[in-house]
Amino acid sequence: MKIIMLGAPGAGKGTQAEKICDRYQIPHISTGDIFRANIKNGTELGKKAKQYMDQGALVPDELTCDLVVDRISQPDCAGGYVLDGFPRTIPQAEALDKALKARGEKVDFAIDVEVPDENIVKRMSGRRACLNCGATYHLMYKPPKKEGICDNCGSELVLRDDDRPETVQKRLEVYHAQTQPLIDYYEKAGIMHSVDGTQDIDKVFADITAILE
Ligand code: ADP
Ligand code: ADP
Ligand code: ZN
Repeated sequence: MKIIMLGAPGAGKGTQAEKICDRYQIPHISTGDIFRANIKNGTELGKKAKQYMDQGALVPDELTCDLVVDRISQPDCAGGYVLDGFPRTIPQAEALDKALKARGEKVDFAIDVEVPDENIVKRMSGRRACLNCGATYHLMYKPPKKEGICDNCGSELVLRDDDRPETVQKRLEVYHAQTQPLIDYYEKAGIMHSVDGTQDIDKVFADITAILE
C-alpha cells in the first residue's frame, strides 16, 4: 500500500502518517524529518535545505526528488509506505509517478487532511517536536507523558524554528500556491480522498482507515 499524505503545514499529516505506519507496519517517510536530520548532522544537504526551510520556502525539487526516489527503492519499502510531506509540487508528483511507472508501480491513495488556515496558526504554536526521532506532540491535544521530553526516545522537545507565526503564515501561502494544485492532480488520477482534519486525532484516523479498508 503506497499512500501520500496531503494537507497544509500543521494539518496533522505526520500524526496520522505515524498511526497508519503503526497499524500497517510500513515505513513512514517524511521529507521534513529527513531534512531536519541532515541539518542536525551538519551535512551538505542540510546546509542547503536550511536556508529555504528557515524562510518557510520549499527546498528546490532538485534536492528533494532523487532523495525520495532513493528512499522508496530501499528493501523496507517493498510492501508499501506512507509519504508525508512529499510531493509538495507538481514536478515532484511527476517525478514520483515516473519513478514508479518505470517499475510498473503506482500510488494507491492520496489523502488530504483538511484544516482551514484559521486553525493552523493556533495549532502550530502548540506543536513540539523531537528532532532526534521525529515524534510530534501538542501542548494541549497530544502532550508528552513528561513535560518537554519525548516519550519515544527521551530527547528534549523543541518549538521548531519554522513554527513561529510569521513563518507559518509564509508556509501557508506556499502551500496554497504550490502544493494545493496536487489535489487536482490526484483527483484526475482517481486516487484522491479527503478527511476532516479538525476532528480529534482518533476520529481523523478512523476516517482514514475507513478509506484504506
Ligand atoms: P510540516 O509537517 O509542518 O508540513 P515538514 O516537516 O513537512 O512541515 O516540512 C518542513 C519544511 O521542510 C518545509 O517548509 C520545506 O521547507 C521543507 N520540505 C519538506 N518537504 C519538502 C518537499 N517535498 N519539497 C520541498 N521542501 C520540503
Ligand atoms: P503536519 O505533519 O501536517 O505538519 P502534525 O502532525 O505535526 O502536522 O500536527 C501539527 C500539530 O497539531 C502537532 O502539534 C500535533 O500534535 C497536533 N495535531 C495533529 N492532529 C491534530 C488534531 N486532529 N487535533 C488537534 N491537534 C492535532
Ligand atoms: Zn524522540
